[in-house]
Amino acid sequence: MDMQELIQEFSKRYSPEHTETFRRAVDFAYQTHSSQLRESGEPYVVHPMEVARIVMDMGMDASSVIAAVLHDVVEDGDNITVALVEEKFGAEVAKLVDGVTKLTKSGQQTYITKKQEQSENLRKLFLAIAADVRVVIIKLADRLHNMRTLAYCNPYKRMRKAKETLEVYAPLAHRFGMGAIKGELEDLSFMYLMPEEYADISRQFREKQAERQETLDNAKRVIKEELTTAGIDATISGRPKHLYSVYRKMQRQNSSIAEIYDLIAIRVIVESVNDCYAALGVIHAGWKPLPGRFKDYIATPKPNMYRSLHTTLLASNGIPFEVQIRTKEMHKTAEYGIAAHWMYKEGRNVQSLLDRKTSWLRQVIEARDTTEDSKEFVESIMKDFLGEYVFVLTPKGEIIDLPRGSTPLDFAYRIHTNIGHHTQGARINGALVRLDYKLKTNDVVEIVTSNNQAGPSLDWLKIVKTQAARNKIRQWFKKENREGNVARGREMLEDSAKRQNLVISDLTKPEFVNPLIERLNVSSFDDIYAAIGFGGMSASQVLHKLQELKKKDDKATEIAERIRHGDSEDTAKATHVPVNGIIVKGDPGMAVRFGNCCNPLPGDPIIGYITRGRGVSVHRANCPNVTNLQNDLDRIIEVEWAINTKSSFNASLQIAGDNKPGTLSQISQQISSLNVSIQSISGKPMTDDRYIIEMTFEVANTEQLNVIIRNLKKLKCVSDVYRMNR
Ligand code: MN
Repeated sequence: MDMQELIQEFSKRYSPEHTETFRRAVDFAYQTHSSQLRESGEPYVVHPMEVARIVMDMGMDASSVIAAVLHDVVEDGDNITVALVEEKFGAEVAKLVDGVTKLTKSGQQTYITKKQEQSENLRKLFLAIAADVRVVIIKLADRLHNMRTLAYCNPYKRMRKAKETLEVYAPLAHRFGMGAIKGELEDLSFMYLMPEEYADISRQFREKQAERQETLDNAKRVIKEELTTAGIDATISGRPKHLYSVYRKMQRQNSSIAEIYDLIAIRVIVESVNDCYAALGVIHAGWKPLPGRFKDYIATPKPNMYRSLHTTLLASNGIPFEVQIRTKEMHKTAEYGIAAHWMYKEGRNVQSLLDRKTSWLRQVIEARDTTEDSKEFVESIMKDFLGEYVFVLTPKGEIIDLPRGSTPLDFAYRIHTNIGHHTQGARINGALVRLDYKLKTNDVVEIVTSNNQAGPSLDWLKIVKTQAARNKIRQWFKKENREGNVARGREMLEDSAKRQNLVISDLTKPEFVNPLIERLNVSSFDDIYAAIGFGGMSASQVLHKLQELKKKDDKATEIAERIRHGDSEDTAKATHVPVNGIIVKGDPGMAVRFGNCCNPLPGDPIIGYITRGRGVSVHRANCPNVTNLQNDLDRIIEVEWAINTKSSFNASLQIAGDNKPGTLSQISQQISSLNVSIQSISGKPMTDDRYIIEMTFEVANTEQLNVIIRNLKKLKCVSDVYRMNR
């Protein structure tokens, strides 16, 4: 993208003074990033310019666009501080730039500190969003452009970024009502994290596309005619469906793609709210609506401000399709969420409106213990506030939002910790309910407290939905009743062992207990007993972990025993590889081994997987065993080949061709002429005139292997050569 073009685009929408500032900002970004290239090979400045364009296209104010073009200068520039940005571009822009700037620059770090750093940066981001919501818009635009260009990153970065996007940024976009960005972020993450599922859904999607398109075109035409006859002015369009939301729906409902009703959807955009209902009347008069599928999000907007009428109709060929009816303003809000407020700012106090819209985030942050470590802070925000919500009222009419599934106890703990601890009962809309009642939007909730209630009950841990309430209950038990909990926990563990016919003293030996203490990050086994005692952990969980550790230990003893007796088979099987072939990013001291499944060679894109207690196992990035690890992505770590690896590696080829006399000797001659040492050869005829040979040799890297493959393919007797996965 051209800089002049961007500046001109800007000048059409904003004042000459702002354009002047923007021109200086583009210049400044250009100079700051002048020595940097993106992974795609483009000059780095293309990225902030694209981010500025996304922010501008959302209709944001001038300061946001200027901050967008400067968003990476503090992080990437030498000696560029927020203070300098303020001096050059003013306090407002500087504050926004600071909000999107990470606390620490990513450098060579260990795996653990990298995770910590991620949490701390997220904590800073949440605080910055609460202070000025424009930060989230710039940050999401930044992430969107990064995701659009993710193909150029190495596999490790791709997976990490895609996972973080799916876990943090897409829910953030959703929470702020930014449907368009959320959909694109999810689909891009989905493509990188679950390539097979992605390909599968898009194939299924395409299969009946022609038939669906016909139904859609037909319905659009008829609805347009009906509305015109009724005198309603409407724009009608087909709605693009996001693949990830289809995938989620299929998972959730355990259904096939044919059973998803809103694969075909029509969007009707009209002038006014009255027209929305009038259009609905016309459409329902002409088509058969599916019962139970009508939703009025105009009367009851979704918590993220989304408004529309939804209904599902049956086409004449029996295919159901969804219709969404909304005004232009509702449409902008559905696509751009909170950003849409800048488009409709005339005559309104945008700031107070925005303050109200983001009060939930501020409340959450204020309710947090500031000493809480940042990982917990971020996790509890994610859990409590980016999921789905119900909005309930205090008896005084104050609105409290809680995650769906919350109970009166969650409400009580949100109001005040002491109210939570002393809760005896709850009234919803005046009627007494059980404490595990699930709150609904618009419920008026009244908590009945009593000073006779000594404190929370352990059962409450099973009832509450919010992490915040759970933490408060646990803390009470931790503090108030440590000794009781330890004794109780010990008893529970012993009982549980007895029931499973296990001898507890066998399992609580220091060699099993100590690794568990370390893994759970506690300081003594008493802490574990106490956790069981107050219900923070189940006895069977702990037993299971101890058994696992014991099993592993037994196995190790057994192998050691055999090696001592000279049983060489096991020694050979314990594949280990010189550490100097691989560099583990941020943690060069880590033990490295190769996955037996895919035999990576220097030159192959690779990825590391942190195993339990056996260091890092290295796989080819496309190894199916790695792509199946999505649930365990936290264990993926960046690795790369050392530049001067002197080691040699095994690689196997499968060679196929016509079965003629002398074939094998031609092949082995060709290979030995390349100075390659052959480890093993096995061959078998497929049919009378076809053969397949499998060969394993020692090579230094993929380059050498490719030379071998090319040379083998030159032979007349060879038709195909494949690299094998082992
Ligand atoms: Mn950026």
